[in-house]
Amino acid sequence: MKFLRFNKDGKTVFGVIIENRILEIEGDIFGEYKVTQIAYRPNEIRFLPPCCPTKIVAVGLNYRDHAAEMKKPPPEEPLIFMKPTTALIGHEDKIIYPKHMSSRVDYEGELAVVIGKRTKWVSEDDALNYVFGYTCINDVTARDLQAKDIQYTRAKGFDTFAPMGPVIETELDPSNLQISTFLNGERRQHSRTSELIFSVPRLISFISRVMTLLPGDIIATGTPAGIGPMRVGDKVEVEIEGIGILRNYVE
Ligand code: MG
Repeated sequence: MKFLRFNKDGKTVFGVIIENRILEIEGDIFGEYKVTQIAYRPNEIRFLPPCCPTKIVAVGLNYRDHAAEMKKPPPEEPLIFMKPTTALIGHEDKIIYPKHMSSRVDYEGELAVVIGKRTKWVSEDDALNYVFGYTCINDVTARDLQAKDIQYTRAKGFDTFAPMGPVIETELDPSNLQISTFLNGERRQHSRTSELIFSVPRLISFISRVMTLLPGDIIATGTPAGIGPMRVGDKVEVEIEGIGILRNYVE
């Protein structure tokens, strides 16, 4: 199933895509809900981030080729940091360039795991049972500030620095998906999730031994090689096999 969240005439609801139609949902996709027969076309709605996490846990240097381009050794255990939920924006929304502080803002296309239930101390073998689905995320990063600060909070935390969507796909094997990022239509990142240093089950198990993950929480699994800067006016797209294309504009 492909779930989304959207705004239509001032009303915010969940939806599901069935036979190319967006059907409105009554209720909460993480709890009780009913699919209605109220249907929309994509151009009739405004896409929102497909869920409302309590936290976004992101993973640094989780592809070997990206660690190499950053001139860092691959980490021995997952390197985690957090992005604020206030950074979330939806498909087709605008990334606001924070010119008052940064002059180098990069895209980072990543597979995002959406947690489905309370997750604490789970084993790797059991970890995928706690997943609701998968979506695309762009871990937008002020690279100059990341180099300047020891903590990633400022570099990764500006408002609009977490575009996410367009949908959550619930029936997907995350172990070998093609992932690409396009800048103004030109492919800049291209890899497969089979290249992750720490797999999705490993990440869930590891993070669940640090903090309790709640329904809707997000794990951004890391970006492959090919990171680079965006400029005002650019179009950036993250495409993941089986999910779709997350498109945003820099303003
Ligand atoms: Mg990242």
